[in-house]
Formats: sequence, C-alpha cells, structure tokens
Amino acid sequence: MPLLKPAIAVIGKKKTGKTTVVEKLVKKLVSEGFNVSTLKHTIETFDIDYVGTDSYRHRQAGAVFVALQGRLRSAIIVEKEISFEKLLEYASLFGDVIVLEGFSKLTLRDPRIGKIICVKDEAEKEEYREAVNVLCYSVNGALDIEKVVLWLKEQVKVFNIYRKTPMIDCKLCGYGSCYEFSKAVAGNLEYIEKCPMMNVRVYVDGKGIPLTRYPASIIRNVTMAMLSTLKGVGSLEGKMVKIYVE
Ligand code: SF4
Repeated sequence: MPLLKPAIAVIGKKKTGKTTVVEKLVKKLVSEGFNVSTLKHTIETFDIDYVGTDSYRHRQAGAVFVALQGRLRSAIIVEKEISFEKLLEYASLFGDVIVLEGFSKLTLRDPRIGKIICVKDEAEKEEYREAVNVLCYSVNGALDIEKVVLWLKEQVKVFNIYRKTPMIDCKLCGYGSCYEFSKAVAGNLEYIEKCPMMNVRVYVDGKGIPLTRYPASIIRNVTMAMLSTLKGVGSLEGKMVKIYVE
C-alpha cells in the first residue's frame, strides 16, 4: 500500500476512547504546526448532509458523486466505497501527517504506521500482541502524547527520504524494505546513494529529465535485464552504465 506521509492509527474496541485520543492528538499536532488529515472507519451507511439541502437533493436524484465547494471548506460525498489506498492519497494531499481511527486490520502489522492502542484494562493488551510498531497503549483516553509527537517528528525526516524511493522493496540495498532503508538514511546510518533505483538519470540534449519512481524503476530494470544478456557484460550490480542515443 503506498504511503506518502507519516501515519498513526488509533485502534481498539468500541468505547475504549479512540475518538478522545484522536481529538487530543490532533489538537496537539496542530499546536505544533502540523497540518493533520484524519480518516475514520465507520458503519456501512451514514449521512453527513441534511434533508432538503441542495446536495441532498442531488444525491436523491441519483448522483454518484456530489461535491460542494466553499471558500473556506469543501466536501465530497461519494455513493460508493472509496478504497483505503485512495483515501490515504487524498489525506496526503492536505496533511503533513495522517491520523487514522480504526482500520486495525489494514494497519496492525504495517511497520510504517505507528499504533496507539486503546484498551479498557491491562489484560486487553494481550489481544494486540501481533501489532507492529506500538507507540503506546491508552487506558481510558490517557495518552503519552510527547512520545507520539517525538516519533512523528522523526517520521517526517524518514518520509522525506521514503517518498524519493521507488517503494518497490527490492532489497538490493541490503535492507528489507524501502522504508527500513529510509530510516537508516534518516538516522545517518546509511547513504542514500546505496539505493541503485534512485541512481537513474536521463538526459536529453544535456538537459536532465525529472523522473518519478515508476519510470525510474522501469528504465533501470529493463536496461539491466537487456544489458546483462549481452556477451561480455557480466554482472552490472554497483556499476555505472551510460547509454548514448542519437
Ligand atoms: S534498493 Fe532502493 S528500491 Fe530497493 S529496497 Fe532499497 S531503497 Fe528500496
């Protein structure tokens, strides 16, 4: 799943104070200067506009997508489920960080997403033993907020690097994933040049062409695959390849 901004999932059973924790966290992050996006998982059907409003009438008439544009606020109502990936993409457009309420199945084992787990008592913690990257447990809405903010600030540095990687987890750098590699670079334990996928440069008439991660990885993979079949080339790992085309 593509993730472009640091994210924290607040997970837990019903009535364990998840929304209280999200509220506290968002207020704190906003006071620290972050733009915060939140996502909440909810029941199958719900309403956020009122009977008789223009948008309500648009929906009643059968529109599948209704957008409201105001000078200070906009809203989009879609009459179908939007994928989690798409929601993360929208959230990344507006927020420096993303706070999720719910979505535990999608986030529990994702090491990139910090977890705050809301529980009623100590015994309930045991039910989340598979959770990866647990920042803290929250009992009755209590929260180690400074620890969470500190983690998020570090993640901002990690994600500034992670977004430049192809996010394909090819492991050629010796790390298990692009995220792990980015953490090492952010912590000054590794050099960004060690990722061969980020070392793809294309020049046309001497002018550098900006490449996003997908074209860069395609160019690299196709070039490596073709050249390595040529007689006398041998292994290309760690070597510089220049191709001139006229
Ligand atoms: S070599 Fe680059 S693309 Fe491959 S896992 Fe490492 S950082 Fe990601």
